[in-house]
Amino acid sequence: MNGDCIFCKIVAGELPSHKLYEDGKTLAFLDIRPVNAGHTLVVPKNHSSNIFDISPEDWAAVAETTRIVARAIDEGVGADGVNIGMNNREDAGQVVHHPHIHVIPRFKGDGIKLMPQRDYREGEADETARKIRAALQTST
Ligand code: 5GP
Ligand code: ZN
Repeated sequence: MNGDCIFCKIVAGELPSHKLYEDGKTLAFLDIRPVNAGHTLVVPKNHSSNIFDISPEDWAAVAETTRIVARAIDEGVGADGVNIGMNNREDAGQVVHHPHIHVIPRFKGDGIKLMPQRDYREGEADETARKIRAALQTST
């Protein structure tokens, strides 16, 4: 537990939330400011910051809870689709520094665009793939 972390306080029951599901390692609760009603956050009960320091065990547990909750949201709010996302570090939009997966129900014609995309420049995809493959040789 990190005493400065609002999601640790939600896990501990020190702050209120609309809890949906929990198991030994994870908790899922409604996001207080949803993209669409039913927008849910899945968090590990153990404190860490983001994808870069969460333990493999906590990540695996969060992934499985995300799968379970996505199916329940889909059925519960009658969604037409579901987006799953995660912001890691401030420059990627992370505001709360405790890992959390956003599970967002989507509805036909809701008009929300979460991931604007672009085309690669000439040679850029080859170079980018080379750098990431090189990093994979040294990462755990
Ligand atoms: P981030 O930008 O860090 O990926 O997302 C943080 C999310 O946490 C936001 O979508 C925000 O609405 C939600 N949030 C922030 N404070 C609280 C809170 O006290 N309770 C709940 N349920 N959600 C919160
Ligand atoms: Zn925390």
